[in-house]
Amino acid sequence: MAAARKPVVEVRRSQRRRRTVSAYRDGERVVVLIPDQFSRAEESEWVDRMLARLAAREGRLARNDTELLDRALRLINLYLADQGGDALPASVRWVTNQNGRWGSCTPADRTIRISHRLQEMPDWVLDYVLLHELAHLIVPSHNARFWALVGRYAKTERARGYLEGVAAASAVPVAG
Ligand SMILES: [Zn+2]
Repeated sequence: MAAARKPVVEVRRSQRRRRTVSAYRDGERVVVLIPDQFSRAEESEWVDRMLARLAAREGRLARNDTELLDRALRLINLYLADQGGDALPASVRWVTNQNGRWGSCTPADRTIRISHRLQEMPDWVLDYVLLHELAHLIVPSHNARFWALVGRYAKTERARGYLEGVAAASAVPVAG
């Protein structure tokens, strides 16, 4: 997210508006709708306020790579702490080029990639996919030891069902 870049703001005054102010993003611009009777001071105050509100809303939605790594480390602490450093990833990143897979990992360089499609899903589903990939750093295959590790997370079965449902609904074959 380019948080430092200040967006181009277009202010639209409306005679029909009395008190309500709203803002939305339109491509690179942010359109702020204000009542026509607002003074210049009120206008600039409200533009700042709406930009801050918009940024906060988008910040919550954008789960960035740093937050992803934080989540992974928290999961290691909770579920894989007894595995020594074996579950520690070198990197955890969001990717958009992962067709048909929720997550993937490369044990050789200890990198994990998570599909951006998980950004829209509940935290407990994301946590399952993360834990699944972290467990692959310890056990590469889907054997009994692997599922015993992943099964430490109480919502594993529920999350797998959730993802199967999403996959079925979108008719995209999902592996991983
Ligand atoms: Zn797997």
